Amino acid sequence: MKPIPYKEDRYLMSDLAYVIDKLKTRQTLTGTELVSLISSTDESIWQKVYAVADQIRQEYVGDDVHLRGLLEFSNICKRNCSYCGLRKNNRDQIRYRMQPSDIIEQAQRIASYGIKTVVLQSGEDAFYSLDMLTHIIRSIKQTADIAITLSIGERTKDDYRTLREAGADRYLLRHETASKELYEKLHPDSKYEERIRCIEDLFDVGFQVGIGSMVGLPGQTAGDLAEDILLIQKYQPDMIGIGPFIPHQDTPIGQADSGTIEDTLKIVSLARIVCPTAHIPATTATGTIDYYGREKALHAGANVVMPNFTPQSYRVHYNIYPNKRCIDEEGHKCNFCIRAMIVREGRTVGTGYGHAIRFKHNTG
Ligand code: SAH
Repeated sequence: MKPIPYKEDRYLMSDLAYVIDKLKTRQTLTGTELVSLISSTDESIWQKVYAVADQIRQEYVGDDVHLRGLLEFSNICKRNCSYCGLRKNNRDQIRYRMQPSDIIEQAQRIASYGIKTVVLQSGEDAFYSLDMLTHIIRSIKQTADIAITLSIGERTKDDYRTLREAGADRYLLRHETASKELYEKLHPDSKYEERIRCIEDLFDVGFQVGIGSMVGLPGQTAGDLAEDILLIQKYQPDMIGIGPFIPHQDTPIGQADSGTIEDTLKIVSLARIVCPTAHIPATTATGTIDYYGREKALHAGANVVMPNFTPQSYRVHYNIYPNKRCIDEEGHKCNFCIRAMIVREGRTVGTGYGHAIRFKHNTG
């Protein structure tokens, strides 16, 4: 589909009423309908969409908000993604990597707070061999009652299979943007088809799979955002991570504007409607551009929050974007504060693993 300029209003209000009705009853839209809706800046229209998303969230995944303890174990990366502060060519970034024993210990610590998922995230750091990663996964599984989500980038299908067999439950690999043209502009050293290949391989080897995208990337159109929703509709992922693009000054697109809370909530709510059983985080980036961004996302379709458990001395250096929320708080504080926030928003804190709905019957 040819991208359509963002502000172009192609539908009349009465048509948008039809689109909202269709979202409610059929939970799907065509590309043209999505573009028209996404182009609308009418707040009253969006309040209705958020209400539909909130209701679908309650119906399919309930009021529980699942906690995922985030451990950012290395900020060393071989890639040069033009939005990310961890990009290889950013020489101003202080680098760190945690030792396997330290990673295992931190995962045990997260479990001791009653959190049932640890997300192991890093740059694409070749230091961690497949043997090392399988050792980390096995040791965590043997010593802690916790699900493991990996977020460590692009690998071969054989690698993914080995990691799954070692006991990792889930894998997050955002598609970043469904526009091939924009994707390749932002990723000088990687191909859109390769990213999609990885996502399909992750499904094939039996992971619970998370995809997702950034909203408000420079040059991104309503047509591109509609493509993100169509991709989510097509793959029906188990998890969907959506957050605003936030410029980092030491990157090639560091002078661009940040994504907005309005546009982020639009995409979160549409993702919920077209993929009703997914686990969708109220992302840290959303809480960074707007103080109440995470709360707003929880009322527009989201049902997951990811408290940061990266040890303080490392956390300040995991600068994918600047001014990250809760950068100066220890994990246990983050845990406490996020639990209070969930209750304040009228929701309950999930006590189970929060596995994907389609896996629930065999993994509890
Ligand atoms: N190396 C892993 C993890 C990447 S960091 C991987 O490739 O999957 C996790 C996510 O942070 C990325 O997928 C990206 O969507 C997001 N991110 C990176 N830089 C960002 C920025 N400047 N603003 C907002 N989100 C960003």
